[in-house]
Amino acid sequence: MTTQQGDGEGAAAPDLGARFDRVRRDNLATVLGIVHTDGAASRSALTQATGLNRSTIAALVGELVDRGLVVETDPVGTNRVGRPSPVVAPDPRVVAIAVNPEIDAVTVGVVGLDGVVQHRVRRETDGVPSAPRAAALAAEVIAGLRSGALSPDVRVLGVGLAVPGLVGSDGGVVRLAPHLGWIDEPFAAVVASATGLPTRAANDASLGAIAEGRFGAGRGVDDLVFLNGGASGVGGGVLIGGGPVTGVGGFAGEIGHTLVNSVGELCHCGAVGCLETEVGQARLLAVTGLDRGQADQLDAALAGAEPGSPVAVEVRRQIDFLAVALRGVVNSFNPALIVLGGFLGSLHAADPGRLAERVRGQSLPGARDDVRITRAALGVDRLTIGAAELAFAAVLADPASVTRAS
Ligand SMILES: [Zn+2]
Repeated sequence: MTTQQGDGEGAAAPDLGARFDRVRRDNLATVLGIVHTDGAASRSALTQATGLNRSTIAALVGELVDRGLVVETDPVGTNRVGRPSPVVAPDPRVVAIAVNPEIDAVTVGVVGLDGVVQHRVRRETDGVPSAPRAAALAAEVIAGLRSGALSPDVRVLGVGLAVPGLVGSDGGVVRLAPHLGWIDEPFAAVVASATGLPTRAANDASLGAIAEGRFGAGRGVDDLVFLNGGASGVGGGVLIGGGPVTGVGGFAGEIGHTLVNSVGELCHCGAVGCLETEVGQARLLAVTGLDRGQADQLDAALAGAEPGSPVAVEVRRQIDFLAVALRGVVNSFNPALIVLGGFLGSLHAADPGRLAERVRGQSLPGARDDVRITRAALGVDRLTIGAAELAFAAVLADPASVTRAS
């Protein structure tokens, strides 16, 4: 955020210097942001995309190279006459580490500044891990990666934690992760002290929304709602105007706990008839005869259901309840896109026409005409990429805050 101070006339020289510095830093962030989310770009493409002149772009790219954040290469296979424009790409040796504690495992990923997942290690646990246990496991895996798979010239900027629960907006304390049984756990601080790396935590579905928005099904869309269906429930994340909607405490987006059935079952949150009491992966697995480890076969099992069969009836029932929740989403947020991940993506794929029709039929005119519903694109990489984005946030906001040595 920029702030305006005083007026230009009569401003002392240091103010002017500070203002130039602010503009330079913002421009660095703009250029790094473009190559981070859209991939390698020529200097001339950056000139066009930013509206800055060629010499400014050259200086900005030079500074990003000096800070070790981007690499510049000559384009290959250029036949055009004239001097080819060097290609600027994020340096893949700059990485973030992503950690995702689950009820039966802790997954650690390494993601380059180019958004590519370089490593993923899933460490199974005996039972649900406590927060200290999950932190210790993550630290152990990270230490192993740093002394093994990661080459010595790799720079780890920080750790992002994707937590299936409510995380305070300070990015540190897990207020409540019901399926992990965690209450008020200072998870980020424990991981930070165990790894010596800057660490932030956020809700997993909110990070999924950011990942799908920047790199997946929502690329180029500023207003989207992401809903993820996992083994332990339905999480949600909302992006409006390209930024996450967090709420005052960081707890916004819990669409899994919106009312869809006023005479429904009691939810673990204490309310009755929440979306995640009516729409669930366990019920789909039960009706298709799959076990818990076979969630990846849901697509085929749901798509192959005979009309009128118990599977087809359950799919319709869940789609109809999902549509009630999405009606609220459409009317509340007027998104351009709703992205469905996990088993919600399987439900949608089983009968995309029905879901779209039910949502359109119940939403208000205007908002319903703007919205498109689609399946998430990133699959298993989603949380890893989203958590890494959290760790990259500081450098993306202010690339001048890092030096090669950091
Ligand atoms: Zn609930």
